[in-house]
Amino acid sequence: MSQSRFAPQVVAPPSDAARPRFASGREAALELRPDQPVYCFRPQVLAADARAFLDAFPGKTAYAVKTNGEPMVLDVLARTGINAFDVASPAEFAAARAAAPEAELLYMHPVKAQSDIRLALERYRIRTTALDHEDEVAKILRIVRALDLDPADLTLFVRIASRGEAAYELSRKFGAAPGHAAELLQRIDGLGIRCGLCFHVGSQVEDVETYARAVAVAAEVREASRVPVVALDVGGGFPAAYATDPRRPVPPMPPLPQIVSGLMAAVEKNGFSGTPLVAEPGRVIVARAFSVIVRVLLKKGQRLYINDGVWSSLSDSWTGKILLPVRHIPDPARRRRAGRDDRIEPFRIYGATCDSVDVLSRPFYLPESVDTGDWIEIGHIGAYSLSLRTRFNGFYPDTFVEVETPFEAGDAPAGFAEPERRGAVEM
Ligand SMILES: *Cc1c(COP(=O)(O)O)cnc(C)c1O
Repeated sequence: MSQSRFAPQVVAPPSDAARPRFASGREAALELRPDQPVYCFRPQVLAADARAFLDAFPGKTAYAVKTNGEPMVLDVLARTGINAFDVASPAEFAAARAAAPEAELLYMHPVKAQSDIRLALERYRIRTTALDHEDEVAKILRIVRALDLDPADLTLFVRIASRGEAAYELSRKFGAAPGHAAELLQRIDGLGIRCGLCFHVGSQVEDVETYARAVAVAAEVREASRVPVVALDVGGGFPAAYATDPRRPVPPMPPLPQIVSGLMAAVEKNGFSGTPLVAEPGRVIVARAFSVIVRVLLKKGQRLYINDGVWSSLSDSWTGKILLPVRHIPDPARRRRAGRDDRIEPFRIYGATCDSVDVLSRPFYLPESVDTGDWIEIGHIGAYSLSLRTRFNGFYPDTFVEVETPFEAGDAPAGFAEPERRGAVEM
């Protein structure tokens, strides 16, 4: 292709070329010797996990942008074949549209500003949204009439309340009770608008029954309303792999295909076999795609002070009480160490800020020999980490490298250590 000075610029993501590449997080840490947190982005892992979801789920996959809306993430997802995005705000409309101009945007926030509804319908030509109250129907209808849209082009999903087990229980904030949901469906149908049903059972849902119960409630609402339902949106919540507590062994997390097949059994049993399905996965797609390399600023006995924390990359593990897998990267410049490398112990983790709540709710399992100046690579932090960073106390990690191999490759991270290598020290 000839490039003249006057040809329109071919816009390649400038950050792509600028990101240094390494085979592993360990290699990045030893070469850069970073004093600030460094995010390791793994585009290959992201593409593989997105493909795995597309293969497992027999419906439309709409990636939940709030989980991680970085352009580098959305670009990889768009190139991997994700062609629908669950968006909740003007900034998310813009981010998804920029990464994937042809993709469908689903505006699944049930409580919206009037001006945002207008922007969605008018400028972004979004035709699918969610609600759980009749006043929201009225807001949407006002814009539909103002823009003179055909109501039949719109699909409104009624969000139903659901109860279940999740690391995060979101069903208490949104959702209409079954009787109310049925009335909403009738009202929407009466306006000539297409009706859908949706739920979002929470995040990190490791129990298939939670989805099955929500599908049963959806069937109850459909029967009570006697309105044609054009789609069932099962939300997000599909779990990602994290570490497990060696002192409290738990049954292994069911793999994604098992969760999806349990969900599909419920779909069939409740008469939704012929209904198009939508899912809004976030965490399960993006968790493994990032790790962060942090430095131990100080070791005080069983406490480690690190240069990241709940106000930067680690708030999700704090609120969700998630045990993160970690890898010790000793500083070779440190000559003398106390403690053994082969004894794994729980360390309490203190964050970078001066705030006393900046302490993780779960320990890191690390070799006894970990010390001041060493690095720790914290794995599987791609979900709800970058998007939840704050500038609190002046700390804002924002350095990225690209890493080719998955976090779990190479020497075993301590969070996945064999039981006999684990110490028995209580915190
Ligand atoms: C946050 C959110 C998701 C994504 O949830 P994950 O647990 O990350 O899969 C999907 N749908 C809705 C409505 C959400 O609010």
